[in-house]
Amino acid sequence: MAPDRATIWPYDERGEPGSFFYSRYAHPTGAAAEERLGSLEGGEALLYSSGMGAATTIILGFARPGARIALAKGAYYGTSVLMRDLARWGVELVEYDQTGTPPAADIVWVEAPANPVLTMPGWAGLRAHPGLVVCDATLSTPVFLHALDEGADIVLHSATKYLCGHHDALLGATVTRDPGKTARLLELRGRAGLQAAPDAAASLLRGLDSIDERMQRITATATEVARRLDAHARVTRVRYPGFSGVISFDVDDPREVETRTKLIVNATSLGGETSTLESRHRWEGDRIPAGLIRLSVGLEDVEAIWDDLEQALA
Ligand code: PLP
Repeated sequence: MAPDRATIWPYDERGEPGSFFYSRYAHPTGAAAEERLGSLEGGEALLYSSGMGAATTIILGFARPGARIALAKGAYYGTSVLMRDLARWGVELVEYDQTGTPPAADIVWVEAPANPVLTMPGWAGLRAHPGLVVCDATLSTPVFLHALDEGADIVLHSATKYLCGHHDALLGATVTRDPGKTARLLELRGRAGLQAAPDAAASLLRGLDSIDERMQRITATATEVARRLDAHARVTRVRYPGFSGVISFDVDDPREVETRTKLIVNATSLGGETSTLESRHRWEGDRIPAGLIRLSVGLEDVEAIWDDLEQALA
């Protein structure tokens, strides 16, 4: 679908705005993509300028001065950086082991699985929690998880990753089943100007056409690559949740390994058709093991990926 890039649409014959009048609030390409993602997740989806745009809208919409946010330890680094910055506004951040019971908090923010430590949230404790439960399901995608069915109030995606899937669109999404929460997010998205661009929404429509096939192939390849990494003498630890394409493995000299790959691109981000890998220490410091390399398996042939890793590890 070619994106409609208009920013304005005329009022009707009575001079009243229709569904689309100014693109900061809604636009046809975004609405079509939201419809598709919402039906995949089983809720109402909204798109944002990025995954962090979605996270910012959730916090602005549902936190207040003095609010306590409990965030999964080892979750996406940028989320913790944003929350720490908001200490200036009186927002308190605590990090906790998401496999256990969440502490008292106004908002509990989990990641399924956490990027890059790849733990999964303990749903029983989350279902019993009185706070707002946000689940960042970027690495699972709706192919492997419907977090709203598990007990999340809001699902968040960095659609930049698997949902768009080609390393060429920056996009975020939320999905909820509560019309009041959707309305609050919609209101703040428009007020804060965190709406998605029509071109990125069109990339999501394209990405969703192949999401099932891509995730199945990526999982089959990643399962085999994780198995071989586990048996490699130079690899001291492998984390792989058994689905999707992110594998985190530890070596003694991550900077040497990451700069030696030829097929796998030494770059940040994940979830594209092209495999990427990087030492996360450069960004996250001592928050994660110093030797941790995050590999995002793409759509290349499994033997080609393995040959590249083997020569980089040699
Ligand atoms: N959530 C997770 C799990 C991520 O990996 C990322 C980005 O790496 C984000 C959120 C932020 O998304 P974006 O880069 O689209 O703002």
